[in-house]
Amino acid sequence: MKRREFSKLLLALGVGAKTTFAGQSIADAETYEEPAKKLPVRHFDVVIAGGGTAGLFAAIAAGRQGAKTMLIESKGYCGGIAVEGGTAIHSFYNLYTAFEGCKKIKAVQGIPEEFMDKLTAMGGCTGYPEMETARDYDSVCTAIDTELYKILAFRMLEQAGVFVAVNTLLTSAIVHNARIQGVITESRSGREVIMANSFVDCTGYGDLCAHAGAEFTVPNDYDSCNSFGLANASIDDYYKFLKSHNAVGQMCRGPRSGEENKFVRMGAEQLDIPELQAEANKIGMSMITTTVHDNYLMYIKCNYKIPGTVLNRDDVARAEIEIRNRMARAAELFREYVPGFEKAFIARTSPSLCIRRGRQIICDYDITHEDVIDGRHFDDDTFVYGFHDWAPRYQIKEGGTYGIPYRALCVQDIENLYAAGMMITSDHRAHMSTRNTVSCMGQGQAAGTAAALCAIKNCGTRDLKYLDLKRELLKARVYFES
Ligand SMILES: Cc1cc2nc3c(=O)[nH]c(=O)nc-3n(C[C@H](O)[C@H](O)[C@H](O)COP(=O)(O)OP(=O)(O)OC[C@H]3O[C@@H](n4cnc5c(N)ncnc54)[C@H](O)[C@@H]3O)c2cc1C
Repeated sequence: MKRREFSKLLLALGVGAKTTFAGQSIADAETYEEPAKKLPVRHFDVVIAGGGTAGLFAAIAAGRQGAKTMLIESKGYCGGIAVEGGTAIHSFYNLYTAFEGCKKIKAVQGIPEEFMDKLTAMGGCTGYPEMETARDYDSVCTAIDTELYKILAFRMLEQAGVFVAVNTLLTSAIVHNARIQGVITESRSGREVIMANSFVDCTGYGDLCAHAGAEFTVPNDYDSCNSFGLANASIDDYYKFLKSHNAVGQMCRGPRSGEENKFVRMGAEQLDIPELQAEANKIGMSMITTTVHDNYLMYIKCNYKIPGTVLNRDDVARAEIEIRNRMARAAELFREYVPGFEKAFIARTSPSLCIRRGRQIICDYDITHEDVIDGRHFDDDTFVYGFHDWAPRYQIKEGGTYGIPYRALCVQDIENLYAAGMMITSDHRAHMSTRNTVSCMGQGQAAGTAAALCAIKNCGTRDLKYLDLKRELLKARVYFES
């Protein structure tokens, strides 16, 4: 007997029909009114929602400005998709290798650059070795050790004086007259209210914006993915395999396990093994990987377009199962086809699937694809960026950079809220640039700095003087073109 039929039978027998709680009949109820409850309140200057790729840098930036800052992160670590989904950290540089005579520019500096320098010193990052192939796609390869990244993230947050609330979910917002007064969080310590002056939504999904009543769309225009780390697997063996099949695509050499000039990025062209290629296509497996260690491939991706939406719990649950099955198959394919991979095993997965886009939040300015490929700069640039994930098909003009304007981070119709990360930029092609990790990091630093200034000056996002923000960003070594 199905559970529904069983419940009906109980009702027919009169069992539970009169079950009431707090005056409500609950046995056959379709809704339940949660009783109001007094919650403890904490006070901060700035709240950063989400400690992922953008949020980590937003929180460090706000903390360093002297603002009393709280970072709310639902997982047990910070770093987000930068440590879960991506293959390489795209990209601190402009596409200087694709254009003759093009000047090499380190477009993103500031706190993200400082972070990568520290990570490199810990042996957790390749730095910026130049790509040997696919030089019209990205000029450098920045690969990371995902676990050292998480450790460094905590250290730098602590040094910046940020109150870090991990394993804490932001569940709603308290809004009055288009101004967020506070947010409500939930953790095993219970529910709490966090009051603050300024807020930055870095949840990727745009949760805080949605709770605050901001306008958004849900384009649902990309594959989701879970990427995994493969151990007992050598990138040198992978290179030999691809070379023997004339299929070496993306390739870069850099520091690996303490030695220079080793393979750190490897990707396959179309393989001349039709059955493997067909199987890989079936599970959306990307044949590009990176590493900073001898016997470990940091990322193998299995993509899957969720039939439904990334905001629907049950659609996502089905996708989680599908993607984990795909991962198992991907590992099997490596063991079966690549000599030297016979004992390879899955050593790391993301705790939940990674999305390329959830909600797209409406901000005061929406970066267009023309802005990106024409290399436009604005009179309110917060930093510049020079990578397009659709290169070489779409490249930024002459290997230059474009600006991320302050207005693009201000959430429309809300006085004290910024958005940073993959939730900005509605145009699908422009998003293929702005959503990349290093752009999200730059957005995080800009939004976190601005939020701290607003809190300190007690003003809204639109009352903050741009030159005050730029002065602070320059002090923090953010690079501008003008
Ligand atoms: C599969 C995949 C592969 C990619 N590959 C690359 C690549 O190779 N190179 C590259 O540069 N870019 C890549 N990208 C793009 C890039 O990684 C992401 O766009 C970027 O990392 C998103 O950063 P974010 O800060 O917006 O979101 P995230 O990094 O996801 O951070 C959001 C954080 O908010 C937390 N959070 C969410 N909701 C709540 C809540 N309600 N309460 C508390 N916390 C919450 C999450 O746990 C998470 O830590 C890839 C993306 C995907 C999905």
